[in-house]
Amino acid sequence: MAAWTLIDVIDVLEAAYPPARAESWDAVGLVCGDPAQPVEKVLFAVDPVAAVADEAVAWGADLIVTHHPLYLRGTTTVAATTPKGRLVHRLIKNDIALFTAHTNADVANPGVSDALARAVGLTGDLVPLQPFPDDPWRGLGRIGDLPQETTLGEFAAQAAAGLPATSWGIRVAGEPSRRVTRVAVSGGAGDSLLATARAAGVDVFLTADLRHHPASEFMEAGGPALIDAAHWATEWPWLDSAASILTAKGVNVETRVSATVTDAWTRGY
Ligand SMILES: [Zn+2]
Repeated sequence: MAAWTLIDVIDVLEAAYPPARAESWDAVGLVCGDPAQPVEKVLFAVDPVAAVADEAVAWGADLIVTHHPLYLRGTTTVAATTPKGRLVHRLIKNDIALFTAHTNADVANPGVSDALARAVGLTGDLVPLQPFPDDPWRGLGRIGDLPQETTLGEFAAQAAAGLPATSWGIRVAGEPSRRVTRVAVSGGAGDSLLATARAAGVDVFLTADLRHHPASEFMEAGGPALIDAAHWATEWPWLDSAASILTAKGVNVETRVSATVTDAWTRGY
């Protein structure tokens, strides 16, 4: 069987994560790589950082698919005088392509928040927290139900166990005895969805990167309860989902999900 080329693999990924659905400020798609190059090994990771490049080189990857873009804004140089420039050099020297699916993966169905919802134990149907006006099945975040009512404390413990371990785990705002059934989740920074989660009438909203003032004001106004997890941990469950899309579409490549923890916070005390 002929080897798959990079452009063929990208076609499959972009069918699942249409770039046209990315936010206007986002930068998704191919960062480096020749569309005609053969691809046999694909590494999936959240962040395009040196530790992930190390893993890709050691494993012999031909392509890295990351959630976060390497460059979000314009640049005039990829000289190896900056960490990002060094990464570009390292990848090109090792014949490794880099492809990003970011906000287009957030809003996809299934997307980043579907994988997060399953990881923290939501079992039933999932609907977007903020659906697209033209597509009720796609959009940011997900809402779903737990299989049975539980307490906030128990759900938090379950969520922590379902997500990959990071230096400081998860933080909870709300009484641990509070009853929870209906849950909203959003992978990555979910500040912008606080009001939407309240309006949706959920019992708890789980996301990442929540700051003191928005969280404090939200809880002063009665909640729902909040769970703040590590940014990397909320997006990591998606990697397996993205890898399985290649498998499901018959793309004959070896896939690997990076277990390298690339969350910015490396130690809690
Ligand atoms: Zn993110």
